[in-house]
Amino acid sequence: MFDLLIVNATLPDGRTGQGIGIRDGRIAEIAPGLQAEAAQIIDAGGHLVSPPFVDPHFHMDATLSLGLPRMNRSGTLLEGIALWGELRPTLTKEAVVERAVRYCDLAVSKGLMAVRSHVDVSDPRLVTVEALLEVREIVAPYLDLQLVAFPQDGYFRHPDAAAALERALDMGVDVVGGIPHFERTMEAGRASVEALCRIAADRGLRVDMHCDETDDPLSRHVETLAEQTVRFGLQGRVAGSHLTSMHSMDNYYVSKLLPLMAEARLAAIPNPLINIMIQGRHDTYPKRRGLTRIPELMAAGIDVGLGQDCVMDPWYSMGTGDLLDVAHMAVHATQLGSQDDKRALFDAVTVNSARIMGLQDYGLQVGCHADMVLLQARDPAEAIRLRPNRLKVIRRGKVIAETAPEVTRLSLPGRPDELDPAAYAPRDAS
Ligand SMILES: [Zn+2]
Repeated sequence: MFDLLIVNATLPDGRTGQGIGIRDGRIAEIAPGLQAEAAQIIDAGGHLVSPPFVDPHFHMDATLSLGLPRMNRSGTLLEGIALWGELRPTLTKEAVVERAVRYCDLAVSKGLMAVRSHVDVSDPRLVTVEALLEVREIVAPYLDLQLVAFPQDGYFRHPDAAAALERALDMGVDVVGGIPHFERTMEAGRASVEALCRIAADRGLRVDMHCDETDDPLSRHVETLAEQTVRFGLQGRVAGSHLTSMHSMDNYYVSKLLPLMAEARLAAIPNPLINIMIQGRHDTYPKRRGLTRIPELMAAGIDVGLGQDCVMDPWYSMGTGDLLDVAHMAVHATQLGSQDDKRALFDAVTVNSARIMGLQDYGLQVGCHADMVLLQARDPAEAIRLRPNRLKVIRRGKVIAETAPEVTRLSLPGRPDELDPAAYAPRDAS
């Protein structure tokens, strides 16, 4: 007897006709054609059941603040940082909590159930930290929120940042952040990586730095991050976010860098929507894409998780809370277009990011939390192509969000009267 039984599901690895039995909030059984008594039965109709989407790079303290105090006219990273600097002293805890929790509603509706959010510690009031710690509690029943202490204005560059970062960690923030390319000099950037890795090692925490978010091929803090990861024994617990300078680096240098990153088991977190929008701003034509070398990172065995970074904030006026938008952009901007490539990018918005965040009991295996998403698509490649409706979003065995399937009524002479966008993929396209 199950609490919930999902029948006729397709799994991301391609198995079809699967039944998923759920008991006490966990996956109790997965088998083809599984039949059993259950309090509730959901017929997946051959659609894809995926583990939840995971966003490993976000800024929940800024989300939905678009237009406050004014719009970003140039669209650049630096005007975004300046705008955020204007807004920050006026923030109230209540307003930040309200926007963040409202964003989480949207995230859940898209099947997103875990977010790593950077939280700015540059304002000594730490209003953003207090707010997001409260949000972490509020949303815990339906969304795992991991917080990174992020010195937006520079760990050394801002006089109060070092003390504020330690205070934020004392208050319960989970991960140590950084922004070495925003320090005043290359040397200060290098020193910040070292200091922040030391803090993480002393406190037994993970590290996730905004690293080399620039088009400057000589911004090479990722090399220092890999070196310090090994030095402090942090292998497998450190991520470099963005890494956009790698797009512009010399090929010979990258051929040396990738094995160093792999050895340190450093994870990479590109943010395709933001990177394609914000990088290359000093170029005329040709304009660089400014997205890091995702295919080469993956080929080197480096864990790649894709993040959203922003949804409607001073840096980015777009964003939907949908990690499939992120994967869709990655397909185009990296030219990862084969079916295998798309499956790898689907992993980058699900299982890879869960591993990078260290989520426990995540995945579609017996014994894991019964957290999953039923999509109106037949497989992961189709999910990225269609960015389809999330028919059911399930957390701990309970449906927490539902969207009706997209079906169009047609009135065309001699043509079918109904159109299902998920029915278009050629059967032999795999
Ligand atoms: Zn960011």
